[in-house]
Amino acid sequence: MKKSIYGLTLDQLTHWLVENGQKKFRAAQVWDWLYKKRVTDFADMSNINKECLQLLEENFVIQTLEQAVKQVSEDGTIKFLFKMQDGNLIETVLMTFPYGHSVCVTTQVGCNIGCSFCASGLLKKNRDLDAGEIVGQIMKVQQHLDELGNGERVSHIVVMGIGEPFDNYTNLMNFLRVINDQKGLSIGARHITVSTSGLTPKIREFAEENIQINLAVSLHAPNNELRTRIMKINKAYPIEKLMDAIDYYLETTNRRITFEYILLDDVNDHIAEAEQLAKLLYNKRHLSYVNLIPYNPVDEHGQYQRSKSEAIKSFHDALKKRGINCGVRWEQGTDIDAACGQLRSKQIKKDKVAK
Ligand code: SAH
Ligand code: SF4
Repeated sequence: MKKSIYGLTLDQLTHWLVENGQKKFRAAQVWDWLYKKRVTDFADMSNINKECLQLLEENFVIQTLEQAVKQVSEDGTIKFLFKMQDGNLIETVLMTFPYGHSVCVTTQVGCNIGCSFCASGLLKKNRDLDAGEIVGQIMKVQQHLDELGNGERVSHIVVMGIGEPFDNYTNLMNFLRVINDQKGLSIGARHITVSTSGLTPKIREFAEENIQINLAVSLHAPNNELRTRIMKINKAYPIEKLMDAIDYYLETTNRRITFEYILLDDVNDHIAEAEQLAKLLYNKRHLSYVNLIPYNPVDEHGQYQRSKSEAIKSFHDALKKRGINCGVRWEQGTDIDAACGQLRSKQIKKDKVAK
């Protein structure tokens, strides 16, 4: 099966064209057709010579994703379900805020990290997405905006859909370089956030990439006993190791970091945990922000419920009082299951029933 040309960075495309006997300047032209004019057929690249077009057609396709479902939530959040060439389904969410259009992308089919509260972890990883399939999600959403005709652009990206991005590192980095490229979509690095469950070797590697992209770490518990209970990855990368890697990231990049903390009723939402969390983060409080996320219940994980609103408020206040920057993220699109992995698992269930 031919791969999507979206998977190549501009450097890689240039290299490939030159290796195949084409002039170097063709790369910039093709790039412009792909990301500025956003054609979906090579034949529409009218200033590219026949031989080059034929070469491209023989080796690549432009888009490999096909829209299977589009659900619009009451608050305007749109959830797309895309079918890949091999039939696997992935999901992508478009959220519109006063500051712009933000897209949440998927990086893997399923996820092997298997956090006990997450719908994505229910479906073991089937495979990684290649870079073209990750970029393809942004292009599909941009195409949707283009069709509305207001000239609006995808301006923000959160890598928080299905999958652990740092478990698909090379493809993730290529994706980030493609969408950030100033000659293409030019989505600002400061508007892009990658979320990881805490793969410490990759946090260190990411620190050395020399790219201004934001990093978010899913912490969800302030001590090893509790964190291991809800995220088994904590056995391999316990909190001390994670904090060492984060300190390295902070020193190397001079950037801030976000900690995500899902609030699970009567599990990790007591004042005792807020106090522990404040202690854990105190020495980096000027460089960190804690995002408190009210849990979105998942049918299959009945043991977890969303924290009560008083508990959320008290937890937030306890952190604030101790000098920790934090806020509560009231998510969008809950009426269409826009939480991590839920649409896909429902669709698969429906398919199974239909068979
Ligand atoms: N694998 C990465 C990125 C994808 S998950 C990671 O775990 O960070 C993105 C965020 O959504 C993570 O913080 C994750 O813990 C959170 N999440 C997963 N399931 C959720 C749910 N049901 N409700 C609220 N947040 C959830
Ligand atoms: Fe994977 Fe993230 Fe879900 Fe954990 S929370 S199972 S790492 S997608």
